[in-house]
Amino acid sequence: MTPTVLKIAALAGDGIGPEVMREAIQVLRVVGQKFQLTVQITEAPVGWAGIDAAGQALPDATLALCRASDCILFGSVGLPDRDPTIPKEQRPERAALLRLRKEFGLFANLRPVKLPRELAHACPLTPERQGTGIDILVVRELTGGMYFGQPKKTEPLGDAAGGFRAIDTMVYTTPEIERIAHVAFRTAQLRRKKLTSIDKANVLENGVLWREVVTRVAKAYPDVALDHMFVDNGAMQLVLRPTQFDVLLCENMFGDILSDEAAALAGSLGMLPSASLGAATGDRVFGFYEPAGGTAPDIAGKNLANPIAQILSAALLLRHSFGLHDAAAAIENAVAAVIAAGLRTGDIFSPTEPGARRVGTREMGAAIAAAI
Ligand code: NAD
Repeated sequence: MTPTVLKIAALAGDGIGPEVMREAIQVLRVVGQKFQLTVQITEAPVGWAGIDAAGQALPDATLALCRASDCILFGSVGLPDRDPTIPKEQRPERAALLRLRKEFGLFANLRPVKLPRELAHACPLTPERQGTGIDILVVRELTGGMYFGQPKKTEPLGDAAGGFRAIDTMVYTTPEIERIAHVAFRTAQLRRKKLTSIDKANVLENGVLWREVVTRVAKAYPDVALDHMFVDNGAMQLVLRPTQFDVLLCENMFGDILSDEAAALAGSLGMLPSASLGAATGDRVFGFYEPAGGTAPDIAGKNLANPIAQILSAALLLRHSFGLHDAAAAIENAVAAVIAAGLRTGDIFSPTEPGARRVGTREMGAAIAAAI
């Protein structure tokens, strides 16, 4: 059920955040009008903008706004020249980003990677390997596995050479695997209905359990074709034949690595949105939507940033937090139309591409809004 009012907390953050967020908000408002939605967007500071405004990377008022909202549209936070001036735990990525992930129990990270045909030149693979187009969704488990398992420590070996033993522990439980698998299967149902589950079942206990549980969960989704792949082969297949994949389901660390590898296929961070989802309460899922890239301080404030990652994040928000598939598709189609028409921000521009026209952040955003 779509609520009558879509309550969206918009946290632009630092660097290019405010520039790309402005364009995403513009697009959301246009979509709202077209689909007769009451879109209530409230902006609040986060990151260095939060520290400057209220002394905290995640000000209390910003957190309160997020709690009172259906979802968060996030820009990015952190500035490499300012971050080292304050203690680690107060820095924006830890104090704002990680805190929000924890606060809202965001366990499922969705990273779609779509390379439009017109941007074949931006992809590092040869055109033959790009086939009829790359369109992959990586679903990554975000709160378990090696990054969080205990024990996690470094201890002295007690030898004469003063050596150490570093220990990380990979832990997954059946319910953790089940809930991420359900997200992946449900998302595959919205796409081409093919799911490749990534594991290392030939070596890791975790991999064996992962494969067993995913295979069992698959029984509830007979319309989705499931196959399994070892992570080393998956990494290789992503560059050899990426067009074979629709949805890739990964545990935390494998997903971290493979989602970045897949991202490289799209040519620019400026094209890549992401969604992080929490547990469903009733028919609602709290979602956090952000571009895959960071604050890009090298181009901030110059009208150079590509707003597409932020705009496509808004499309994911409509789809996953509100089930508004048509409105989400309207944004995605508008982006595709503007790309097809030849508009390019600097990151996806090639002087040798016939018909390409280099534009700034504002012009790109306005063209997408106009194409809705
Ligand atoms: P970055 O993603 O900000 O930039 C890497 C490169 O990609 C740069 O050349 C940048 O210009 C380019 N780029 C990124 N987004 C772009 C866009 N929309 N359009 C055009 N080009 C784009 O990564 P970085 O330089 O390693 O990090 C900069 C800051 O961002 C750091 O403080 C880092 O901690 C922070 N960061 C934040 C997040 C987040 O908030 N989720 C994620 C990554 C990095």
